[in-house]
Amino acid sequence: MNEAELIQRYFTRQIIDSCVTLGIGDDAAVIQPPAGEQLVITTDTMVEGSHFTPNTNPSHIATKLMAVNLSDIAAMGATPKWATLTVTLKTIDENWLAAFSSGLFSCLDRYGVTLVGGDVTKGTETNLAIQLIGLVPQNMALTRKGAEVDDDIYVTGAIGAAAKAVQVLYDNQAIDSCVDEDTILSTEQINALYAPQPRLDVGNAIRSFASAAIDISDGLLHELAIICKQSSLGATLQLTTLPVAENCDMALALAGGDDYELLFTSHKSAREEISSIATRLHCKITRIGHMNNSNKIRLYHGEEEYSLPDKLGFDHFSRNHDE
Ligand code: ADP
Ligand code: MG
Repeated sequence: MNEAELIQRYFTRQIIDSCVTLGIGDDAAVIQPPAGEQLVITTDTMVEGSHFTPNTNPSHIATKLMAVNLSDIAAMGATPKWATLTVTLKTIDENWLAAFSSGLFSCLDRYGVTLVGGDVTKGTETNLAIQLIGLVPQNMALTRKGAEVDDDIYVTGAIGAAAKAVQVLYDNQAIDSCVDEDTILSTEQINALYAPQPRLDVGNAIRSFASAAIDISDGLLHELAIICKQSSLGATLQLTTLPVAENCDMALALAGGDDYELLFTSHKSAREEISSIATRLHCKITRIGHMNNSNKIRLYHGEEEYSLPDKLGFDHFSRNHDE
């Protein structure tokens, strides 16, 4: 099979999006964005050895790759529309490609995203990258800065489950030894790790009033520290309110990462609206603290103050957790 056949068989589907003037098959795609909308562009990569093993189910890889990109678009309050896909393969393994492609297109279809192009190359490690392009009405994108003193801090869903699944994989030495992950993890753990639900509907619903937003990829405290830094503020969290996932501990929930939930801030006057959004969208949204002008993050469990963990989240280059 040559490159053109591979693209045709595994990555080309009929395009039914009137904004796509030219899709796969030319030197580049051509898109006509609707008037009054801005493009929101993100990219995320998954690398064998860092994000998955040669044994990871290819369909899970595709689902996760889509989810992490969709989550970035959600955190901007935008709607995903178009994607490009860069695939670096060691060899052509048709079983792998078929499973990856079917996982990918089922996600693309579920979220109404059109694959408009990409690239295929050969390399020493499997490497997959999606660039996702979304739309947001002019000047409505949510950003990481803009939080104000006394704003409430909220988190969607429950946190810690994906980090717990990673911990279980490490405990079973599944990361290095190529053990079948499906035999080690429960279905809930597989879903937490590979099929996080990007909070697109919540991102859209809060974008008119939220003051800052970020998605939790590297750990709740890590992301909160970014909002604090970019907004030149501090924050106080009440740990008794933290929505820790079932069978997970507080440490993983605070700094584990891979949750792909939204962390956002908003003025107190939005409390009722947020609770009605949570009900309408069937998504738990929990108030976990507030912003302050201390330039520090402080953790309380009831009245008692807790010190911050040494590591606030995950950092690829320390291969561990960062400051
Ligand atoms: P070029 O040599 O000009 O880069 P390619 O042969 O790489 O062209 O790609 C041919 C067409 O197929 C382009 O439209 C490109 O966007 C598309 N394409 C290549 N790889 C992928 C992929 N993995 N998924 C989707 N489309 C792809
Ligand atoms: Mg190319």
